[in-house]
This record gives sequence, C-alpha cells and structure tokens, in this order.
Amino acid sequence: MKILVTNDDGIDSAGIAALADALREIAEVTVVAPSEEQSAVGHGITMKYPLRVFNYQKNGSFFGYAVEGTPADCVKMGIRNIMGESPDLVISGINHGSNTAINIIYSGTVSAAREAAIMDVPAIAISVTSHEAKDFKYAGKVAIMVAQKVIKYGLPRGTLVNVNVPNFPENEIAGVLVTEQSKAKWDDIYEKRTDPFGKDYYWLTGKLVEIENELNTDQFAIKNKFVSVTPIHFDLTDYDTFEKMKSWNIEKNFNEKAH
Ligand code: MN
Repeated sequence: MKILVTNDDGIDSAGIAALADALREIAEVTVVAPSEEQSAVGHGITMKYPLRVFNYQKNGSFFGYAVEGTPADCVKMGIRNIMGESPDLVISGINHGSNTAINIIYSGTVSAAREAAIMDVPAIAISVTSHEAKDFKYAGKVAIMVAQKVIKYGLPRGTLVNVNVPNFPENEIAGVLVTEQSKAKWDDIYEKRTDPFGKDYYWLTGKLVEIENELNTDQFAIKNKFVSVTPIHFDLTDYDTFEKMKSWNIEKNFNEKAH
C-alpha cells in the first residue's frame, strides 16, 4: 500500500513526523508537505509563482519533499510529479489544533485531503484538538484505524474523511463517534493596533460560537472526549434549492427578456 502524507503546519512539524512514523507500519509512505506553515490558507493553489521542491532531511536522513506552496499544491505536485501515480490513500495531518465546524472550510489540512478527493484518491484529514499537543501517538493509532477502514470499505467519489482527536491520554478517550459538521461559526474580532510608524493595522482574533444542543456533531464529540470521524464532500451544489429554484422561472424569464 502507498500513502501520500501531507499537512499544513509545515514539513518540520511534530504532527507530520508522528503521522509518517505511524503509517510506515502499514504502508510505503511518501511525505510531500509545505516548506512553511500554511494553516488557514484553505484550498489555495499557486499559479503566479514558481513551485520549488526541496529534499528535506530529518535527524540526518531523508524525510520527504518540501514544497514552497500550499497544502493543495503539495497533493497535486506529490501525485503528478513526485510519485507520478495515484497512491492508495492521502492522509493530511496530524494538524496541531482542531478542524471542526466552519474551520473545515478555512483549514489547509482538510483542503489537502479535499484536493486528493478531487483527484479521485481516498483521503483522510486528521487533527489533534490542541495547538499545544505534544504527544501524537494515540492520534497516529487513530490514523491507522481509520485508514484501514477506508481501504476496506472505500469512499464514494468526491468524499473524504475528517478526523479530530481530543488532546487527552488514550485511557481518557471516551470512544469514537461518526459525526456531522457542526454549524458553529466564528465571532470575528479585528484587534486594532498601531505599528512603530504610527499607522493602524488589524489582527484577526475571535471565538467560535457554539451552537447549543447540537448532538452528533464534530464539536459535540470532541467536547465529550470522543474521537470525531466526519464524512464530507466538495460538491457544493444545494440539491433542495436546485429543485425549488426551478419555480423561480429564472431561465424562462431571462430568456424571454433576451429575445
Ligand atoms: Mn495547521
């Protein structure tokens, strides 16, 4: 089995090292990851700058390929040029910090997995729920468990799996829940500051506003110390509205006016 491993925290992060180490027990692992941190870059791709690729060493031996680009760039480049073939699986992570609710959209970690799904490769994004996480062993085990399930059962075209692991020792984890994406969103605050030249600038902060009484969501799972496993897809069509919109007569009215 061949697995492409990537992330958005950068090739030198502790999370990707733990993920690659864990997966080497079950697969041939190729690491292609951003040379710099790319958290919250979403699904951006690089089109106006050259993409440079470097061999990255860790502890004196070759670890993987560092790309001066985004997580989505890494998946495209990894599959098209570095591996030259589709792997059996792409796994992105282990991210430092949760990727639940609306963060799925902003996340570079999830976007890398989504790019794999666009390229018809089964994919998993995995995150630990704290930026201060130091121990990724349990999350590594979860990655293997979910990878084996995905290989066994397969995923529909265009679907990927988003996993969030609470930052607690294994014996404190309550279990695993298959979940929905929470509808929680950010209450953004742009903190206004002044630079040394007297000019104002802004720094984005804020807090995720929880939805009360949400059950079965990724947020519910991690708050209750469960590992959250959410199937997501990139087809953004709203099929209910697609049907209802037919009664708006947009097509008919516009075409009549055009003539
Ligand atoms: Mn990140």
